[in-house]
Amino acid sequence: MNTQIIGDIRIDRLVENEGPFADADFLLPDINPTLLQEHADWLYPRFVEPVTNKVIMSFHSLIIRTPRSTILVDCCVGNDKHRPSRPGWHQLQTPWLERLAGHGLQPEDIDVVLCTHLHADHVGWNTRLVDGRWVPTFPNARYVFGRSEYQYWDEARQAHTGDTPLNHGCFDDSVLPIIESNKALLVDSDHQLESGIWLEPAPGHTPGNIVVHVKSGQQHAILCGDVMHTAIQLANPELSSRFCLDPDQSRITRRQLIDSCADTGIVMLPAHFPSPTAGCITCHGDTFRYTDST
Ligand SMILES: [Zn+2]
Repeated sequence: MNTQIIGDIRIDRLVENEGPFADADFLLPDINPTLLQEHADWLYPRFVEPVTNKVIMSFHSLIIRTPRSTILVDCCVGNDKHRPSRPGWHQLQTPWLERLAGHGLQPEDIDVVLCTHLHADHVGWNTRLVDGRWVPTFPNARYVFGRSEYQYWDEARQAHTGDTPLNHGCFDDSVLPIIESNKALLVDSDHQLESGIWLEPAPGHTPGNIVVHVKSGQQHAILCGDVMHTAIQLANPELSSRFCLDPDQSRITRRQLIDSCADTGIVMLPAHFPSPTAGCITCHGDTFRYTDST
């Protein structure tokens, strides 16, 4: 993704992994078998791998640099995390920190870490393994979590009785160490981080899911997290992913976001759209498409 310039703010993408992730009918259980062919001219090969029909997804963080601060949005899967129920994430080793350095940043330079929600692929680099302990990766950052999101997973974890850990165990290794080191800031879902950067509730995928608005001058970007996982959901916004905890609410939230952003020129920065990730939603008949931003 090219650096996105939003007034006096810049946004860069920091990739952990990108590639074919899952069958379209696995990710989107309600998909009509003919949808991909009806939209083949723009979905293939960027969003869907030809022949296999696997959805191409990226797992990345987004770095927002304002005149005042450096903000890291979402923290991917992370290295060394024990995730046996998701082999592609288990004991992952990627040069994500080296790539951060490639953006001219050391962990000490991050002022704010912000998680759109607390799934395992959004909190991983909150912590790293040092001498057998999970410690905050970013020593000078305050970590901003939505209060309702945090409370949901805290309560769910305490009530959980299954054999496999809830949410791959990410609350214990990637969220609790932040709380225990007094680096967390729990905020309302419409919290303003600083001038031009604010949160908006986007429930459905998870109860406390949020999106992040970045606005400066006449330009506006939305870091929309997992409200959409793939551009296939622009071909049919009704399709919620199998990872959405409340598919009906997710559908409502996605439809509102798409309707409010279509044909406006607002730059969308979803958490899992493949390269170049940044784009704009455009109306196309009674459906939508994803077009490149400049
Ligand atoms: Zn995700």
